[in-house]
Amino acid sequence: MPISDYIVTIGLEVHCQIKSNSKMFCNCATSFGDEPNSNVCPVCLGLPGALPVLNRHAIEQTILAGMMLDCSTPKISKWDRKNYFYPDMPKNYQLTQFDLPLCIGGGVPLYDLAYPKEIQSNIPTPGKLVKLTRIHLEEDVAKSTHHSNNSTIDFNRAGTPLMEIVSDPDIETPEQAYAYLKSLQQILVYGGISDADMEKGQMRCDVNVSLRPHGQVELGEKVELKNLNSISAVRNSLHYEIERQAEELDAGIAQIQSTRRWDSDVEETQMMRTKEDAHDYRYFPEPDLLPIKTAKLVEKMRAHVPELPHHKRERFEQDFALSPYDAGVLTSDQQLADYFEAAATDKKLGKKVANWITNSVLAKLNDGNISITNCPLPAEHILELVKLVDAGTISNNQAREVFAELWENPDIQPADQAKAMGFEPADTGAIESIIDEVISANPDKVTEIQAGNEKLLNFLTGQVMKASKGKANPKMVTDSLKNKLL
Ligand code: ZN
Ligand code: MN
Repeated sequence: MPISDYIVTIGLEVHCQIKSNSKMFCNCATSFGDEPNSNVCPVCLGLPGALPVLNRHAIEQTILAGMMLDCSTPKISKWDRKNYFYPDMPKNYQLTQFDLPLCIGGGVPLYDLAYPKEIQSNIPTPGKLVKLTRIHLEEDVAKSTHHSNNSTIDFNRAGTPLMEIVSDPDIETPEQAYAYLKSLQQILVYGGISDADMEKGQMRCDVNVSLRPHGQVELGEKVELKNLNSISAVRNSLHYEIERQAEELDAGIAQIQSTRRWDSDVEETQMMRTKEDAHDYRYFPEPDLLPIKTAKLVEKMRAHVPELPHHKRERFEQDFALSPYDAGVLTSDQQLADYFEAAATDKKLGKKVANWITNSVLAKLNDGNISITNCPLPAEHILELVKLVDAGTISNNQAREVFAELWENPDIQPADQAKAMGFEPADTGAIESIIDEVISANPDKVTEIQAGNEKLLNFLTGQVMKASKGKANPKMVTDSLKNKLL
């Protein structure tokens, strides 16, 4: 049977480090890249008798994430021990939340621009919201590195505040999984909750996927995929796994609940373990921490909910008359959106400012591999440049040259730079005489225009632009032509 004969069901578990100066249950630093095992204390080393102390900031940020994703927060939230033995967790349990997590329900909206580029123009389920089961807060474990003959372990990461965001099995394709992670990342960055960089291990993802034939109600046996260290790896491993399961089901091989790892070198999943050796974590309430009453925290964080990417996008479309695509590009990054708003203080010029940013500025940033936060050109310069063109002081082509110079010397004012390059406002007298020359050189076109074919005005404007060597302002030329001919 082709893959389309099966219903694919995907659920994602995302672990995301919360931006916090100190760890979840002690005041050790969370800084990345320090000397191994230098940011440690009895609590995060799991020494006997050490007592945990809650990190209020991490709790607040988790509640904020929940609010941004439309979750609800139970009145009481509590801590539990998840028991297992592994060298990265020397207490032999992880402090986490079991039955009363900080956030319940909610969902992640999938943004069009969060899908892989090649399918953005043809998204089968536009506007989909992937439902969430819960978000809970826990501690990260130490980082083990496996060498050829031994393993080393760094406890600097142990105890870093970690949110676990669990989706419902509500995702139907690898592309939706991709868009889910990108959208979630964007929202968490907007909230200042996490940098959510998968390459730095700040965001990590486990995937559950199962197939069942159409008509079957209960889900098929699920396979869990591990070791996915990029959003593309999630998409690729899912494609591989869906095909593998479909082929086996076609051949009559029943699937068993199991965990597989993705090997990105050979691009295939490999069996790690089956359900028989699944963990029984024996959760029980953490006796060293009191449950939290959440009402006051919820009230406090409500004031901190920022404008969400999709709300900002709608506002940009309305206030600045931007296309959905341009508004989507500009709001894909909070800093880029801020840059645009700083430049588009004159709403009427918003669309032109947006064009400059989505074309010229983004191209330059891309070329130089520069982030928008380090953009050399002050946003106000973009507005100035647009104003110079709009007033007819310089032409669009000249503005592009000015822009290139300003990029290298951002301290110079756009108007001064234009002057220094000899881009004075065109001599209107000279332009007028060029217009007259073009009119008398094209009597047949003039007749046609006067007979109602106004499209030909563009042709005459083009002739004037050519004769003026691009110095004339095309809009003014067209206006003048209209005046003279119509
Ligand atoms: Zn510590
Ligand atoms: Mn977890």
